[in-house]
Amino acid sequence: MQGDTLLIKSGGAAALPEWQHHFARLMPGLRVCGWDDPFVDARNVRYALVWQPDPGRLARYPRLRLILSAAAGVDHILADPKLPPNVPIVRMVTEETRERMSDFVTLSALAIVRDMPALVAAQRDGQWACDLTGRLARDTRVSVLGLGELGRAVAARLRANGFRVNGWTRTAKPAENVPVFSGEGQLDALLAQTDILVNLLPDTPATRGILGRRLFARLPAGASLIQVGRGAHLDRHALLDALDSGRLRWAVVDVFDIEPLPPDDALRRHPKVLVTPHIASTVSYAARARQVADVLGAHLRGAPLPFVYDAARGY
Ligand code: NAP
Repeated sequence: MQGDTLLIKSGGAAALPEWQHHFARLMPGLRVCGWDDPFVDARNVRYALVWQPDPGRLARYPRLRLILSAAAGVDHILADPKLPPNVPIVRMVTEETRERMSDFVTLSALAIVRDMPALVAAQRDGQWACDLTGRLARDTRVSVLGLGELGRAVAARLRANGFRVNGWTRTAKPAENVPVFSGEGQLDALLAQTDILVNLLPDTPATRGILGRRLFARLPAGASLIQVGRGAHLDRHALLDALDSGRLRWAVVDVFDIEPLPPDDALRRHPKVLVTPHIASTVSYAARARQVADVLGAHLRGAPLPFVYDAARGY
């Protein structure tokens, strides 16, 4: 442990002092260095905590033992074609990740059922829109695509707020407190009973582009979308067409294939879209440092690691 280096690329140079502050308390023997530190000895780098690492960089550390994702997804790491083989990649999942995502999706779902975007527009236009009374959560069917670490927490919170919740998984499993639909074969049946669709799938070859024309056509007319998974899931032209034709009513979109979303992107200006800048569940450095310390502790003890990316499954 003494002399082992944790290399960090998350939050830029401005965030390094805060990372170092947390790790000094949690793991005093660990050397914590920034990604662009010219004095790092490559042979001492055992751990890398990264968001969008430069392609080829991780392969330069011959004694790298763990790659820790600064986010729940690992797509930003897998994009590196020279990723060192056989180094486990650990996803960042904390209690704060679950809570923040549950807050964000519940806020979005309640805003949709209470017509909040239309109320904001009415206020801006000087109208007294007393007909915009919305509907009840308990009359609203929400389908959560992906009942993983985040989907399960989100489904539970939506249920606690009165929504009627169903979920979708890859593998058939016993009910997770909500009715579960599994696999391609049960997707259409789920979509047919959906007022609000929440996407919390991982980015894999099987899920890429799933939020497209085919899927939108299978939702009841007037359904809404909360897209908090990954940008690669969404066919943006299909979404714009579905909104313009009235098939979809509202969309909250937090993740994009290009981030930041270009200023002139049509989604930014669309009256039926709320664009948020990938903030649905941005976790504090303190919580992430605690999680990294727990993972490194398990690694040093030779205990099983939590939230390891499984290449065979793709997530
Ligand atoms: P996870 O724990 O890996 O769970 C993935 C879930 O998706 C599982 O239930 C899995 O099914 C299901 N799934 C995977 N492939 C599928 C397929 N082909 N068909 C049907 N279901 C499939 O993921 P997570 O940690 O909950 O993260 C979910 C998503 O949230 C990721 O895309 C992540 O990048 C994103 N995220 C976004 C933000 C943000 O701020 N916007 C923050 C954090 C995370 P099984 O149960 O059968 O395995």
